[in-house]
Amino acid sequence: QPIVGVLALQGDVREHQRMLADAGAPSTPVRTPDGLAAVDALVLPGGESTTIWRLARTFGLLEPLRRRVAEGMPAYGSCAGMIMLADRIEGGVAGQETVGGMDITVRRNAFGRQVDSFEADLDFPALGPDPLHAVFIRAPWVEKIGDGVEVLARVPSTGNIVAVRQGRLLATSFHPELTADARVHALFLDIVKEA
Ligand code: GLN
Repeated sequence: QPIVGVLALQGDVREHQRMLADAGAPSTPVRTPDGLAAVDALVLPGGESTTIWRLARTFGLLEPLRRRVAEGMPAYGSCAGMIMLADRIEGGVAGQETVGGMDITVRRNAFGRQVDSFEADLDFPALGPDPLHAVFIRAPWVEKIGDGVEVLARVPSTGNIVAVRQGRLLATSFHPELTADARVHALFLDIVKEA
């Protein structure tokens, strides 16, 4: 069975581990380059992308993360994790870097102050006919996508792109790990198994 890691520098690591367990996969927290080398796939949690970036730099993880993703390691990012997987950020702090790998531009804190946090039921055909209840917390949206990027879901009222896939990389603006619905994690585990 492939070993799934959860990047455990900051953010809702435990919630992702619980969801992965619900979807049938034990997982291991990743904090070091050696820890990263020991996993076959990685979840990048929600949290604060500026903090995750700074800690990844401090712990010497940014370059190893870039290398693994470029080599085809499956990865799934929620919210701050989506920002980390994006090739380009709008509204980042000065000098903010990402792991990248997905040919997308994300806008941080895109939904604005009045709707810092909200919930919505999304049409998400890749998960089947039932809508997905999505929790957004100071969420980014995907502002631009490259040719190889598949749009998986949009906010129904505004059309903003909030779930994308590019090959083995998956990202959502929202936090399925804060709900009881493990379908997004199950989709990621399918990608991991295919790889
Ligand atoms: N606003 C946060 C950031 O820029 C993301 C919020 C989240 O992950 N819930 O990283």
